[in-house]
Amino acid sequence: MSDFTLPVHHDGADPARDTGYVDPPPRMGFFTDTSICIGCKACEVACKEWNEVPEDGLEWTGMSFDNTQGLSADSWRHVAFIEQPAVAEDGKDFRWLMASDVCKHCTHAACLDVCPTGALFRTEFGTVVVQDDVCNGCGYCVPACPYGVVAIRESDGGAHKCTLCYDRLEVGQEPACAKACPTDSIQFGELETLRARAGERVEALHAAGVEEAQLYGHDPEDGVGGDGAFFLLLDEPEVYGLPPDPVVTTRDLASMWRHAGAAAGALVLVVGASFLGGRSR
Ligand code: SF4
Ligand code: SF4
Repeated sequence: MSDFTLPVHHDGADPARDTGYVDPPPRMGFFTDTSICIGCKACEVACKEWNEVPEDGLEWTGMSFDNTQGLSADSWRHVAFIEQPAVAEDGKDFRWLMASDVCKHCTHAACLDVCPTGALFRTEFGTVVVQDDVCNGCGYCVPACPYGVVAIRESDGGAHKCTLCYDRLEVGQEPACAKACPTDSIQFGELETLRARAGERVEALHAAGVEEAQLYGHDPEDGVGGDGAFFLLLDEPEVYGLPPDPVVTTRDLASMWRHAGAAAGALVLVVGASFLGGRSR
């Protein structure tokens, strides 16, 4: 839970450099270790307070003690409560998993690909941010996100989501949620360091008999090129409402444009041929 000093460089997946930053700082991100989350929701509150995210109802579902219910334009961190009857032979008849969810700051971010105004942009830290004053509210980013993260806020018509506290990073501070988390379930830092730490944590849990422990979103080879915000889970991703095999939704965009171009070219040829044929009669 300490502040950090801006480092100089890093190796590995580098979306900032791919975007055109000449000498960006290392890629920064979140490692959320759900095995030590106590469900206090301090992260949700700190995020709202720092980013001035409006209040969003806090409604009970009648099915859960989770009063936020999901990520939205007005909930940029959401602590999911998974309350289930347990299957365990250890005598416990109930289990309660908790996981603080957030924008994944994907390596290949489809929200960025589809934004026509440039409101969504890649920062020098490799994170993904929306600029309120450039967003025109078209909402293309909403279905493009494979995680269902970004959303349009009714009151201002703009798209909103976690910025990984870009304004704090710029002045060498860690994001508000990580700062507020009393158990260090949310850890902020250089992505490479976090990945190494997460690997060690999974090994330690396995050695302690917690065989279900697994990482989610850490793999640069996955369908979105890996996430800038990844998780240690205590069950399959689906149990937490996360897609098991997310894919960047704009993956086929280039080939679709190629096919559309070829089809348009063929159409021009057909029309041209019929025009010439008509004249020769
Ligand atoms: S999780 Fe969704 S909103 Fe966040 S960077 Fe990835 S595509 Fe964009
Ligand atoms: S602040 Fe930390 S412990 Fe509390 S709910 Fe958020 S992630 Fe869990």
